[in-house]
Amino acid sequence: MNIEQIYKDSNALLTGHFKLSSGNHSRNYLQSAKVLEDPKTAKLLADALALQIKASGIEIDAVCSPALGGLIAGFALATALDVRFIFAERVDGEMSIRRGFEVKAGEKYLVCEDIITTGGSALEAAKQIELAGGIIVGYAALANRGFCVRDGVEGTPKANCKLPANVPLFALEDFTFEMYAPEDCPMCKEGSVAYKPGSRGN
Ligand code: ZN
Repeated sequence: MNIEQIYKDSNALLTGHFKLSSGNHSRNYLQSAKVLEDPKTAKLLADALALQIKASGIEIDAVCSPALGGLIAGFALATALDVRFIFAERVDGEMSIRRGFEVKAGEKYLVCEDIITTGGSALEAAKQIELAGGIIVGYAALANRGFCVRDGVEGTPKANCKLPANVPLFALEDFTFEMYAPEDCPMCKEGSVAYKPGSRGN
C-alpha cells in the first residue's frame, strides 16, 4: 500500500509555501482530516494500522484519542481492532476524560492520533488514562511527522518528541518535511508569501 499516494490522492498532502504552527516554513503540509473524508479510505488505513498493531502481539482493551484531531482515526482503529473507543478532550486548556467514559484500573489503552507531530496531545491524553489507573501499551497514528520514531524503523527521536521511548509508536508512514526559519526560507527569498493552512477556511 502506497500511503503517500493515498494522501496525495485525497489532497491531504499539499505542496506550496506553508507557515507551520511552529512558525517555520515548509514546502509541504499534511491536512490530515482530508485523508479521512472518504470513510472507505479511513477504513483502509485503519485496517492496515490494526494489522501492524496485531502483529506486534500487544494486548489492547480500548483505544483513546485526544479530540478533535484523533477522533476519526481512533474510532476507525478501534473498529478494526474490535475494542472500545473513548476520547479525551480539552476543557479550559486541560485534557480530561468526560462524558461518562470509565477507565478501569489495569485496562490496557492505545492512544491514537491522526498524525503524531511532537505527540504532545497524545501524551496529555495518556496521562489522564494513567491517572485513572489505566495502562498505556502503545501510541498509534496514521502518519508520523518524523520527530518521534515509529515501531519497525531505526532511528533516534528528535529532542521535541514528547512520547516516552519505552512505549511503541505504531504508524503507517513517516512524513518528514524540510523546514526553514522564516529568515532562511528559500521561497520567501523568491518573494513568495507563506500561507498558513486552515486560515482561509480550509
Ligand atoms: Zn517562507
